Amino acid sequence: MNKVNGLRPDTILTHGGRDPQAFGGVVNVPVVRASTILYPDLQAYESSRVEKFSSLRYGRYGTQTTFALEEAVAALDGGFRATSFPSGLSAIANVLRALLRPGDHLLMVDTVYGPARKFCDEALARDGISTTYYDPAMGAELVNLITDRTRVVYCESPGSLTFEVQDIPAITSVCRPRGIAVVADNTWATPLFFQAFARGVDVSIHAATKYIVGHSDAMLGIAVTTEEYFERVRGYAAEHGVIAGPDDCWLGLRGLRTLGARLRQHQQSSEIVLDWLLQHPAVSRAYYPALAGHASHALWRRDFTGASGLFGLELVPARHDAIHGLINALKLFGIGSSWGGYESLILPSKPIRTASQDRTTGPLLRINIGLEDPDDLIADLEAGLSVFENQRRDLQRRMNHAQ
Ligand SMILES: *Cc1c(COP(=O)(O)O)cnc(C)c1O
Repeated sequence: MNKVNGLRPDTILTHGGRDPQAFGGVVNVPVVRASTILYPDLQAYESSRVEKFSSLRYGRYGTQTTFALEEAVAALDGGFRATSFPSGLSAIANVLRALLRPGDHLLMVDTVYGPARKFCDEALARDGISTTYYDPAMGAELVNLITDRTRVVYCESPGSLTFEVQDIPAITSVCRPRGIAVVADNTWATPLFFQAFARGVDVSIHAATKYIVGHSDAMLGIAVTTEEYFERVRGYAAEHGVIAGPDDCWLGLRGLRTLGARLRQHQQSSEIVLDWLLQHPAVSRAYYPALAGHASHALWRRDFTGASGLFGLELVPARHDAIHGLINALKLFGIGSSWGGYESLILPSKPIRTASQDRTTGPLLRINIGLEDPDDLIADLEAGLSVFENQRRDLQRRMNHAQ
């Protein structure tokens, strides 16, 4: 089915999901917008229903644009097939819904993306699906938390805000013999830096909104599955009428073509900016698994082939005013949600942890390094950090004065 299987990632990025001759030689798959699909006769209409999830039959099941994106991402991730969703959160929520029934139990990593935690605690809990959070440092010991109702173990590696890398091969080795599905959010690494299926994962989720789209102009989610789980995930999405729109899938395809080049630049620039930041007296620590001092650096080295451009930065203890001073002084870093676009972003962040220790001691920032020249980013951060340092010193002086 897929002519790019077996090729190297950058080649899949270029040739995956493309069939110029099917569109008169046009290089890119066009945006195919459709609700109704017309058939030449009734026999053709009736036989189209047999080819489940693979053919154009009604807009709600996708068009050539959707199929092209799904084919390319599945090939890149090394999975069987993919299903596209209108956002990353929609992919997470629908995959969990597809795999869990009332009475079932979910093991969820403590460092999961915040809105996914809320989905488990509220929506799943309302429907009688229980969630136990586990420490991201757990590997095979996770077996001690498995009950006879556990159906899914969910990983996010590295995890949100503090970027712990999980021992996914150890986790899948305890889940596989028990028939428990391992679902992993692979948004940070993308298939280029972490091959989820080669490590035993059953469902790999991408908030394609981030690096795959890469230009901050579309919401998109993708769930790649093994053959075993494909029908359950795709069937659930079809049953509920969930589908990404063709324009957004097209933006996903457009982003995919440059993903390799962009990620290498994000990594290189992040290393340059981090080298500088870690020398600064206002910085106490960085959370980025490619750094030798990071808690799960060894696992990152073993299982990943690169690091992307999102990391945590912990500053020396300071009042929130000083954080305002720093962030508001920046000219190149945008203030806003999401990440993975070509522009740099910064936000304060507050990890929610209930099953592991929050080891942060000072204010934590989440920084997305974009494609700007890293020296300009450093100059911007230098100006921001000097505002931060001045505000801290002022406060210190006033406190000393008051004593
Ligand atoms: C942003 C994000 C999501 C959600 O993606 P949306 O497209 O914004 O819904 C899921 N997982 C991770 C790790 C994310 O950072």
